[in-house]
Amino acid sequence: MGGHEEEAGGQEYLFKIVLIGDSAVGKSNLLSRFARNEFDNNSKATIGVEFQTQCVEIDGKEVKAQIWDTAGQERFRAVTSAYYRGAVGALIVYDISRRSSFDSIKRWLDELTTHCDTTVTRMLVGNKCDLENIREVSVEEGKTLAEEEGLFFMETSALESTNVQTAFEIVIREIYNNVSRKAL
Ligand code: GDP
Ligand code: MG
Repeated sequence: MGGHEEEAGGQEYLFKIVLIGDSAVGKSNLLSRFARNEFDNNSKATIGVEFQTQCVEIDGKEVKAQIWDTAGQERFRAVTSAYYRGAVGALIVYDISRRSSFDSIKRWLDELTTHCDTTVTRMLVGNKCDLENIREVSVEEGKTLAEEEGLFFMETSALESTNVQTAFEIVIREIYNNVSRKAL
């Protein structure tokens, strides 16, 4: 798995990105929306770890994002260190209609800090922004927390496909920029 292939004139980029956040905030649907443009209303929380590889073109270069989904581990607060190993990006997700999922963000950030080094590109994602009528966390609160913690921030809707592509692409581009800066 993984590995870099050196070809004549080109390097292959493969970035591991993890999705974290409380159960049912929409992590699996963000991934299926991004990777397959699908939404699933009865997504079952399977046990185990899954990832999907998605190709994105940046500056004419093919970049592969290997995006990991907890697939239910988080339910038992038992996300393993293997899940985090080698991650260079993270989307930390809450549900804007569920305050408790926003309150958990600090805990998820701590967990990320425990398992990954500080250079991980992190984005705070307020998902389910289609549920405006039952919103419990304001846009302002999300923004403020992101600023305090030095995270990118975006509200998304996996259901309506709002900002999903953009959120992943911002993270992937930032990782790419960091890697190519380092290579100079
Ligand atoms: P996970 O446990 O974090 O992987 O969350 P899932 O992707 O399984 O989603 C949990 C529930 O929230 C499912 O019933 C989804 O249909 C629903 N859901 C996910 N994303 C959205 C969204 O953007 N808007 C709305 N309204 N529901 C969503
Ligand atoms: Mg899931």
